[in-house]
Amino acid sequence: MGLLDGQTAIITGAASPRGLGKATARLFAEHGCRVAILDLDLGQAEEAAADLGDGHIGLACDVTRRADCDAAAATVIEAFGQIDIVVNNAGITQPLKIMDIRHENYDAVLDVNLLGTLHMSQAVIPHMRGRKSGKLVNMSSVSAQRGGGIFGGPHYSAAKAGVLGLTKAMARELAPDGIRANAICPGFIATDITQGKLTPEMKEQILAGIPMGRAGEASDVAGCALFLASDLSAYVTGSEVDVNGGSLIH
Ligand code: NAD
Repeated sequence: MGLLDGQTAIITGAASPRGLGKATARLFAEHGCRVAILDLDLGQAEEAAADLGDGHIGLACDVTRRADCDAAAATVIEAFGQIDIVVNNAGITQPLKIMDIRHENYDAVLDVNLLGTLHMSQAVIPHMRGRKSGKLVNMSSVSAQRGGGIFGGPHYSAAKAGVLGLTKAMARELAPDGIRANAICPGFIATDITQGKLTPEMKEQILAGIPMGRAGEASDVAGCALFLASDLSAYVTGSEVDVNGGSLIH
């Protein structure tokens, strides 16, 4: 028996083969969930969905565009009949110092991480409200809690801290409608988000600060997303769950 039998999920930014979204999609599918993988490139999204087995779909969606999110939600409802879960996972980062952040850097990072989370949530909330049920799982970061120190710059920390505030406010406002909202704060997980810009020295320094002595795996984050998306967490809302190997204990 799967923990998500008969349920459906949208996962944004889930086409990246080694990414947190794809690992989450795979685990959800293993637990009986039908998954819609949303990402910038249609071909890659479809490929990732096919990889999960039959009955899943891939759609092009730039989460910075509200119209894309609305269209994707409509397509998923048409295909699956309902949306139970949204994992707002799409994100980008940039390793900039405070004085090097230009307006376009700020816009790029805030738009995908924070505005994208707002947009995709707004696209499904009316549907979830109508069904008096729904789960929103938002990808924040340990960078929000400890002020960076992993890879992303201050604008990334600010965007991910914004995701925490948005998550908690949505949890409060949407609880009467049967909708739960929670955030995950991953620490250092080996994926492609650093786009080859992580030097061996940076990696060594990060690992030195992790009591468990290893980088996280995408599956470590997926397990947490499954918990927050399933009834195992039925009374959990507005929380931020750390998946960081002890790199921030607070
Ligand atoms: P990744 O780069 O492997 O995957 C991110 C995906 O988001 C990519 O497939 C990309 O195409 C997609 N994307 C980018 N802009 C988009 C847009 N406008 N619309 C839709 N999709 C878009 O990264 P990842 O490491 O799997 O990260 C997933 C999430 O986890 C991100 O929000 C990231 O900030 C967060 N996170 C990652 C780590 C880590 O160490 N890897 C740590 C903390 C938080």
